[in-house]
Amino acid sequence: MTRGELKALIRTIPDFPKAGIQFRDITTLLAHGEGLAASIDMLADMAAPLGATKVAGIEARGFIFGTALALRLGVGFVPLRKAGKLPVETIAEDYALEYGVATLELDPTIINDGEHVLVVDDLLATGGTAVAAANLLRRAGAVVNHALFVVDLPELSGSQALAEAQVEARALVE
Ligand code: IMP
Repeated sequence: MTRGELKALIRTIPDFPKAGIQFRDITTLLAHGEGLAASIDMLADMAAPLGATKVAGIEARGFIFGTALALRLGVGFVPLRKAGKLPVETIAEDYALEYGVATLELDPTIINDGEHVLVVDDLLATGGTAVAAANLLRRAGAVVNHALFVVDLPELSGSQALAEAQVEARALVE
């Protein structure tokens, strides 16, 4: 499957969650067996040379791609959770979204000091979420050099925001 064919499996929903936002919805990609497998194959090809010892996925859609990728790489998966979900003491980062404010939480005992963690999410918009993810993981002792996404919306400059935080962003489609 080509990247163009993969892109065609992602639908755009106008005015969600509010007027003026063109929401890119991966539900249609997830439901397409060949497309789902191709997206994981492509993410695994990108991730293989990066040498990560864990994959961290951002709740909730980052869990889907992140877990599949961790299985392919043979490494562990770290959930970066929305506020109030983890049953242990956590560290937290607040961040501004394209539409709203949110918090990510991590159990820092899951991260070994100095290990390389790859951040994964479905979509890169302004980069605020992924920068918060990298900051959180670094506070727990991780080295975070790369973040992978299925979709990048380049007009929102998320890859620049990540580059300023010393994280290189790569995506399957724009
Ligand atoms: P950012 O922090 O502005 O880069 O926004 C990225 C986060 O918001 C990711 O966790 C995405 O899942 C979510 N997000 C933002 N815009 C969209 C969209 O158009 N479709 C799906 N998810 C989105």
